[in-house]
Amino acid sequence: MHRDVIVVTSAVLHVNCVIVRGDGGEDGRSGAERATEAEPSGETFVIDSPVLPDELDALPTLLQQAQFAAPSGLLATHADWDHLLGRLAFPEVALGCAESTAERLRASPGEAQRELRAFDEQLLIERPRPLALGSVQALPVPGRCEIGARELELHEAGGHTADGMAIWIPWARVLVVGDYLSALEIPTLNAGDTVDAYLATLERLRALLGESEHVVPGHGPVTDAGRALDVLEEDVAYLNELRRVGADAALPAGRRAPQQRAIHAQNVRALAGRG
Ligand SMILES: [Zn+2]
Repeated sequence: MHRDVIVVTSAVLHVNCVIVRGDGGEDGRSGAERATEAEPSGETFVIDSPVLPDELDALPTLLQQAQFAAPSGLLATHADWDHLLGRLAFPEVALGCAESTAERLRASPGEAQRELRAFDEQLLIERPRPLALGSVQALPVPGRCEIGARELELHEAGGHTADGMAIWIPWARVLVVGDYLSALEIPTLNAGDTVDAYLATLERLRALLGESEHVVPGHGPVTDAGRALDVLEEDVAYLNELRRVGADAALPAGRRAPQQRAIHAQNVRALAGRG
């Protein structure tokens, strides 16, 4: 998407993983001069993760081929298991996340591992090693996170789950939103009535869309800001109607497949406190 930003999409669940490089600063050398060096310069973070073992195994090689340095940090947009698998590819690298996500991981130890196991058992997937999250680094959100000579901006993003953050990569104008603004999935409420939190997140994202060139949802195609804004408006309309008329709420056009209807039914249950 940019010379410092690569997106990797998993063949399952259409999960997106974003690799971002903050360069070593202006030292007067051209990109070509840097590219001939044995050691790539700058600092690399891996945000979220692909899902399949082969995809995770391929990440270190992909980084090398793209001449990105080996990652010094992993970031997760939220604590759902399908975004937490980076440590299977880079077991030595620390995982950073929003304080809200660190809190959720502390409060429900083993949840990600259990859900990963259940998913793997269903698809008969074998992994070379179990998932160990290590010591998780809690980052203040809203806040900033240094990467090389650059900074990532971290923005609160609750509503899909109680925890989470969106990551704004200002110099590349890439917005990594977590499980929001997906052209494939309708909004998913996982815990109780989180419609207000969800709508607040959408308004925060709206403010960032004006600057964005690429928007990367947790699941689904990367879009430009215009398409993301369309999805955002559809999601606002759906959530308002969900709260007003419950099960009778109309699903956004183009997102009415049986799988979306199942999520809708789950949202109705979540709203009724039977999530
Ligand atoms: Zn997800």
